[in-house]
Amino acid sequence: TKEDVKSYLFRNAFVLLTVTAVIVGTILGFTLRPYKMSYREIKYFSFPGELLMRMLQMLVLPLIVSSLVTGMAALDSKASGKMGMRAVVYYMTTTIIAVVIGIIIVIIIHPGKGTKENMHREGKIVQVTAADAFLDLIRNMFPPNLVEACFKQFKTNYEKRSFKVPIQSNESLVSAVISNVSEAMETLSRITEEMVPVPGSVNGVNALGLVVFSMCFGFVIGNMKEQGQALKDFFDSLNEAIMRLVAVIMWYAPLGILFLIAGKIVEMEDMGVIGGQLAMYTVTVIVGLLIHAVIVLPLLYFLVTRKNPWVFIGGLLQALITALGTSSSSATLPITFKCLEENNGVDKRITRFVLPVGATINMDGTALYEALAAIFIAQVNNFDLNFGQIITISITATAASIGAAGIPQAGLVTMVIVLTSVGLPTDDITLIIAVDWFLDRLRTTTNVLGDSLGAGIVEHLSRHELKNQDVEMGNSVIEE
Ligand code: ASP
Repeated sequence: TKEDVKSYLFRNAFVLLTVTAVIVGTILGFTLRPYKMSYREIKYFSFPGELLMRMLQMLVLPLIVSSLVTGMAALDSKASGKMGMRAVVYYMTTTIIAVVIGIIIVIIIHPGKGTKENMHREGKIVQVTAADAFLDLIRNMFPPNLVEACFKQFKTNYEKRSFKVPIQSNESLVSAVISNVSEAMETLSRITEEMVPVPGSVNGVNALGLVVFSMCFGFVIGNMKEQGQALKDFFDSLNEAIMRLVAVIMWYAPLGILFLIAGKIVEMEDMGVIGGQLAMYTVTVIVGLLIHAVIVLPLLYFLVTRKNPWVFIGGLLQALITALGTSSSSATLPITFKCLEENNGVDKRITRFVLPVGATINMDGTALYEALAAIFIAQVNNFDLNFGQIITISITATAASIGAAGIPQAGLVTMVIVLTSVGLPTDDITLIIAVDWFLDRLRTTTNVLGDSLGAGIVEHLSRHELKNQDVEMGNSVIEE
């Protein structure tokens, strides 16, 4: 019908606008680079982009809370249990696959040349030798003060201690695995070091704490029947209102993205400084992320749903580009919601339930990156990793990706967990800071893609529960 055509054009105009923004932003950035703007001028210039970041971040908090509460309340406990299981299995499987790809690629390409020659360090490291990053992760799941959780992530004050895992060379494979895993676990719970890579990058909302609380709260409301109705209606309507605000921001997004990208290109350091090893490293990360995002995830989606993954990914374009522009999967969350629900028609009961959790804990790109980067640092140091240590790296990289917040360059911070678990020098993170702003954008895009395809997969697997519930509640059932 005419309406369909109109909405089709409307949707594609949006995508076109966003893609144009990326292209124009890139051209503008490179055109202005030779003028060597001052820091202040760059700040002025990127102002429209900064505004986009602020608008998106403004919505994240009420969005996470309202969508999880309504999402949980809308499902009966059996259905939510099953869907939750599926989501967790999907998150774990894809994260582990990502880690394995990262490890294989970095071993094959071998970008580290056993020397730090021609590499330079960047950034400032504040090393607070930690008592327990892992316990902090759990602590953050249970915030004592919900208001505080909205603007602050909890961190324990650590006392200084040092810890190093010795390298054993001639031990049996099995004992190597066992000893390394247990050492890593010990390391995780006892020690981590923390660093601040870039000033201003930490704006940590305790998303994890809010996720846990909202899920429990929604679950309880769902079981309260009539008594819970008022709260259910309240959060439903809050969620709807937020989504309408998102719709407004989406119109501004292309302009913001244009200036975010142009501003970053003007600001970035001359690529000439980046030596051969770092360039190889960058290529290795790109190859790894591409394999995961362009081959593995779409294939998995196809195998499970038997639907064309590229159509699904086409509907996500704006979210993916926003991730590229903002390097934050939580700031992208509002757009991810819109794309999935409106372009791809994913059931709201799924998105509301799966997306906020995914954006907080499911980070395939980050996991791949952390494992790859740790092995690169080992290569640079001529540090031979045995099989057990590689297993340790995969486990800690998974944990570190779960612990990373969906904010710019969070993965760089949690990488300390991975490095300490096998006794690699944490200082060497500074060797890769120069390219992290760029790689961060790519891994964030991969993270958002993983969450979104996950929503599609969980929806497909849960179609019977969703239908049953529709029948029970007398909703009109839409046949596929
Ligand atoms: N920036 C990433 C994200 O928001 C996290 C990371 O640094 O890897 O998903």
